[in-house]
Amino acid sequence: MKKKMTLTVLLIIFAAAVVIAGQDWKSGIAWTKPPIVTPADKPGDPPSDAIILFDGKDLSAWNKDSWIVENGELTVKPGSGEIQTKQQFGSVQLHIEFATPSEVSGKGQGRGNSGVFFGNYEVQILDSYENETYFDGQCGSIYKQRPPLVNVCRKPGEWQYYDIVFNRPELKIENNKVVEVIRPGYVTVFQNGVLIINHHEIEGTTFYHLPPAYEVHEPTRPIRLQDHGNKTKFRNIWVREIPDTNQKPERTREPYYE
Ligand code: MG
Repeated sequence: MKKKMTLTVLLIIFAAAVVIAGQDWKSGIAWTKPPIVTPADKPGDPPSDAIILFDGKDLSAWNKDSWIVENGELTVKPGSGEIQTKQQFGSVQLHIEFATPSEVSGKGQGRGNSGVFFGNYEVQILDSYENETYFDGQCGSIYKQRPPLVNVCRKPGEWQYYDIVFNRPELKIENNKVVEVIRPGYVTVFQNGVLIINHHEIEGTTFYHLPPAYEVHEPTRPIRLQDHGNKTKFRNIWVREIPDTNQKPERTREPYYE
């Protein structure tokens, strides 16, 4: 009995010693302090560090004002051409709300077609509600590279939204040619809150008439909205600039315990 008690006491002392000796592991990486951002009260509204591209008032963030601004909405003026942001962007988080025309006309690629371009790379906008087309060209596709995981389109005329994470590619350029893709671009897209494109590796410019291939371009480019001849509407467009990669900073010391 006495022997058993002694053993129990010894075990308790041993456990206590382990707890006292237990130290916190530290990575040794000199992270910078994450800046404070105030979120919006309402989901979908811009947080405090967002750059507003369209808030219902005007096209002052864009290169021209040929599209129609009415009742807080921006509508494509067919035939007037695309619009692009005055500011150039690299990697971004983008929120954009859109509605394809309530009056349905045309079919396939001719119904509610527009698109959000991050430089050379298009996330398709299309009326894909009971409207068949090639899968890598339907709403939410990375045009001619990747169909959406699911079709979560609302009916024509109803407001929908994209939340997109675009990570720009890093290209090595020599003599005005891409000699190496140091890091491809990546896109993640949520449509109406549902993940439809999961960290897709961009294969190059989203041509309609050629296979994808990387072309020479600046690291930062305007964001463009496509005029494809349909009166697609937009509202509440904002963007946040994000770091190009998730690379860790240089380690300033080895991991340690304290
Ligand atoms: Mg398009």
